[in-house]
Amino acid sequence: MRVVVIGGGVIGVTSAYFLARAGHSVTLVERQPELAAECSFANGGQISAGHAVPWSSPAAPGQALRWVGRRNAPFALRLTADPAQWRWGLAFLRQCAPQQYRRNAKALLAMAHRSRVAFDRLLTDSGIAWQDSRTGILTIYRSRSAFDAAIADLDLLHASGFQPEICDHERCRAVEPALPLDGQAIAGGIYIRDDRSGDAHSFSLALADACRDRGVAIVRGTEARLVIQNGRVVAVAGGGGEWRCDAVVLAAGVDSRILAAQAGIRLPIWPIKGYSVTVPIADERAAPRVSITDEARRVVISRLGSNLRAAGIAELGRNDSAIEPHRAQPVLDALGALFPRAVGDGAPSFWACLRPMTPDAQPLVGATRVPGLYVNTGHGHLGWTLAAASGESLASRLTTG
Ligand SMILES: Cc1cc2nc3c(=O)[nH]c(=O)nc-3n(C[C@H](O)[C@H](O)[C@H](O)COP(=O)(O)OP(=O)(O)OC[C@H]3O[C@@H](n4cnc5c(N)ncnc54)[C@H](O)[C@@H]3O)c2cc1C
Repeated sequence: MRVVVIGGGVIGVTSAYFLARAGHSVTLVERQPELAAECSFANGGQISAGHAVPWSSPAAPGQALRWVGRRNAPFALRLTADPAQWRWGLAFLRQCAPQQYRRNAKALLAMAHRSRVAFDRLLTDSGIAWQDSRTGILTIYRSRSAFDAAIADLDLLHASGFQPEICDHERCRAVEPALPLDGQAIAGGIYIRDDRSGDAHSFSLALADACRDRGVAIVRGTEARLVIQNGRVVAVAGGGGEWRCDAVVLAAGVDSRILAAQAGIRLPIWPIKGYSVTVPIADERAAPRVSITDEARRVVISRLGSNLRAAGIAELGRNDSAIEPHRAQPVLDALGALFPRAVGDGAPSFWACLRPMTPDAQPLVGATRVPGLYVNTGHGHLGWTLAAASGESLASRLTTG
């Protein structure tokens, strides 16, 4: 089949790879001059299969209420008059019910588990020269109650085939000796040894080269739109060109909903803005080798080569990637509070982007009701973690019908 993938982030590139591998003739169209320049550019770096749980949890509404109005809170809500935002917000709240949460978490963890295996297959099969860090992910909890709540939820992880380790403060420091000895109360942690971290941007560029080797045509700097005839998607047009095809895959992140609307489809995706900061490591010995999640601050930290990256903040009601200092600074502060000597005086590089979020945190992968139109989008806070499984599953659904 002739397939056009719209969007050259980690999801689009991974989809293109698996489609080409399945024998399709693939064209990938990206509007930016470079690939992976939007949400896949500077994310938190965690391939966090064992932490793949939805944000729509029973605790979320209460936490959000406590945080609203606090300038340096990890969550921010900007109320708008847009009915679509209200619809999405209400759908999110419905998913916070305990039974919904457990159902969504199980589905997400199962997909994340598949993705870990698919990721290994992808690395071997593509032969790309790219290295992830396999030292695991440690989530630290500041309060005993948060730690106990996390322990109570571990049955979900066990049932999904993960082997989380419950760590007291000493064990947390044994897992990651760069964690502070004192001054920061760490009630405990959950360590998932098999989780990983790595740079989604450099991975996407390396995999794009492997796509080219398999014959994928990559078109950059072209804003794509759908060409629909007799209720069927027949081509993609943009930049004065047109690509006739048998199938189109929307992998356009938050803007997948704009493209889907061209075919009369409403995707339940809403942008949730996030921030990251990347700093050069000032002191090797003071920098973590294990990826860390600071649960209280909702910040993830990964070591990416000679840099440290911290990412966090969930802002609902913003549709831009402007960097606002009062939102970016708390992410840097969280990194500096845990690893002050590693951060040093190096110039921080701030970044912000929009996560393509669905209310139940499940990505949308597969055919739509419009013939010829497929989606692989809506990965929210877990696109890097889920990329391999969703690319593989999209290619398989498109191939077998
Ligand atoms: C602060 C932050 C931290 C994060 N941390 C993590 C993490 O630690 N682990 C994890 O698993 N996930 C993380 N995520 C989520 C992850 O980054 C995203 O889920 C993932 O990057 C989404 O990939 P994507 O390919 O769907 O979207 P994108 O990377 O945004 O790619 C979509 C592409 O489509 C292109 N496009 C859009 N419209 C068109 C059009 N009409 N024509 C042509 N091209 C178009 C865009 O230019 C863009 O390049 C984080 C996100 C943020 C914001």
